[in-house]
Amino acid sequence: MKNLDSPKEKVVKCYHCGNETLMRQTGESSWGSNDEFDFQYTYKMFTCPVCHKITLVQAYRDETMIDPDLWRAAEETILFPINSFKSNVLPKPIKESYEAAIKVRNVNATACVLLLRRTLEIIFKDQGATAWGLADKIEEIAKRGLLPDSLKEASFFTKKFGDSAAHGEDPIDKNDMESLIEFTEYIIDYLYIIPSKIEDFKIQVGRQKDTQEKEG
Ligand SMILES: [Zn+2]
Repeated sequence: MKNLDSPKEKVVKCYHCGNETLMRQTGESSWGSNDEFDFQYTYKMFTCPVCHKITLVQAYRDETMIDPDLWRAAEETILFPINSFKSNVLPKPIKESYEAAIKVRNVNATACVLLLRRTLEIIFKDQGATAWGLADKIEEIAKRGLLPDSLKEASFFTKKFGDSAAHGEDPIDKNDMESLIEFTEYIIDYLYIIPSKIEDFKIQVGRQKDTQEKEG
């Protein structure tokens, strides 16, 4: 396999700060084999010019790929930071609202918390809540068994801090904001990401069973 020079700059989405921007590659490591089966993994580290944190991209290519000599034909996955938001199972309005919150996390904690509160409103509406206020929406969804107690409590924290942000009370503390971001992520994982992963697994297991039945 030819070893083509990979680009040392690339537009990458930073899941720390939410900016999609041209990043400088600041590290690289690869391994693979060209014995029986020709394959290669390359890990590339990029540094965000906005928040200075790093993103680790894994690129994989092998001989079964259409054009293994072309770097662009490789499958690329972001290994770090871990994020669910590259997933396409998340409804667009939720994704957009959450990403807007993440984008301002390093700029303004109060704005970030307001947007997290807004994200929750959209999530519970999407889950079928009909109540007008956020507190009632949370109760409604929890009563239907869609939200465990811990995440119900987490939702009320986001509501509480979001309300004080909206009412112009003391500025939001950055550590509190980080916790609320984490809580929102748990809620998204629980309501969207985990169910979709389980569905995918069921399909995969079903496919294996079909193959076994055909072979057996
Ligand atoms: Zn960044």
